[in-house]
Amino acid sequence: MNSLYLVIPVLSGIIGASIASWLVQEYDNYRREYKNFTDRVFVRSTCDFCQKNLNLSELFPVFSYLFQRGKSRCCKKPITKKYIFFEILGALIFVFGIISNSLQISFLAISIIFLIFCDEKYQEIPIWNNLFILTWVVLELYFNHSNSQILQNLFAASCACIILLLIYYSYLKIKGTEGIGLADILLLFTAFLYFGLPASFYLLTLASLSLILKIILTQQYKSKHAFGSWIAGFFLMFTVYQEFYGTVG
Ligand SMILES: [Zn+2]
Repeated sequence: MNSLYLVIPVLSGIIGASIASWLVQEYDNYRREYKNFTDRVFVRSTCDFCQKNLNLSELFPVFSYLFQRGKSRCCKKPITKKYIFFEILGALIFVFGIISNSLQISFLAISIIFLIFCDEKYQEIPIWNNLFILTWVVLELYFNHSNSQILQNLFAASCACIILLLIYYSYLKIKGTEGIGLADILLLFTAFLYFGLPASFYLLTLASLSLILKIILTQQYKSKHAFGSWIAGFFLMFTVYQEFYGTVG
C-alpha cells in the first residue's frame, strides 16, 4: 500500500487529538474569564503543578505525553491520565470518521461527548456548544434533506419548543425554580429539527426515562440532575444509527 494513503488518516487523528486536548482544558477552566480569544485557545500553557510555562514540544497531544513518559518536564510530576485518554479518544473518533467517510459525525460526536461531561459536572451547556450542534444540524438538513422534509421538521420543532417553554414558565411561576433548563430546550429544538417526528419523540421519551431511572437508582430525589446530557447521548446514538444502519423510526 502506498504510504500516502496513511497521511490523511494520520492528519485527521492529529486534528481529533488537538480538538480533544483543547476541549479538556475548556472543561477544566469552565467559567473562567478570558481577556481575548488567543488566551482561551492557549490557556493550558503552564504546568498543572508548578505553573511554569510549557515550551512548544510539551504542547503536542499524545506525543508530548509519550516522550515525557507521562511526567511533567519541569517538576517530574505524573501528568493526569485524563489528557492522554481524551486525546486518544479524539484521534480515534476522527480516524474512524475519515475512514468511514463520515467525518461530519466525528465533529458532532466530539462536541456531544464534551456536552455530556460539562452538563454532568456543571449542570450547564455552554452556549457555543449548543449553537455548534444546531449549526451542524442546519447544514446536514440543507445538504441532505428535501425542503418539504425540512419544513415538516421545523414545524414539529417549533411546536415542541412552545410546549416546553410553557412548561418552563409555569414551573418557574409555581415552584420558583427552573424545571428544565433553557439550554435543554434549545437542544431539544435541535433534536426535533434534525430527526422530525416520530423519531425525536422517541428520543425525548428515552432520555426522560433514562434520567428517571438514574434518579431512582441513585436515590437522589432532591438534588438537581442534568437532562441535556441524556438528550445529547441519545442524539448521538440516533445519528450514528441513522448514518450506518438507515433511518430511525
Ligand atoms: Zn511543573
